[in-house]
Parts: sequence; C-alpha cells; structure tokens
Amino acid sequence: MNQQQILALYEWRTGICFRHPGLGEVPTAVVGVIHPPAEGEHEVRACQNCVVAIEDMRREEAARAGFEYVPGQLGNCPG
Ligand SMILES: [Zn+2]
Repeated sequence: MNQQQILALYEWRTGICFRHPGLGEVPTAVVGVIHPPAEGEHEVRACQNCVVAIEDMRREEAARAGFEYVPGQLGNCPG
C-alpha cells in the first residue's frame, strides 16, 4: 500500500498538526482522541506527513509483534 492509498483512507480537514503546530492550518486527519479531565473530548489531528509516519510505525510494530497490519485505523481506538 503506497502513501496515496493510506492518505485516501482518512477524512481530511483543515486543522493544526499536533507534531507541527508551527505549520499553522494544514490538511489534517484525526489520529486519536484524548480526554482532558476539564474539557471532555479533544481530537488529536496530524498532517499528511505525520499520518504516513505513524502508519509506517504501526506497520513495523505489527510485523515485529506478528499482528496483522490494518491501515486507516488511527483515531478509531478509544483512549
Ligand atoms: Zn505533522
């Protein structure tokens, strides 16, 4: 699966990347949800480079651990 295919699995909206806040507003996808005690729910958004990097990491981890790698799942698991 190439980069474009992975990116196509996500819904992109303008936002701030959690790793690159200095870039300002860029196309981002939800890669997680955090629950700060006072604020209820907060989406963690990442830019295209970061989504590809995180998916790469997950693929390597899955290969090492012997799990099946399923792309496009970032942000879907609770916590
Ligand atoms: Zn980023």
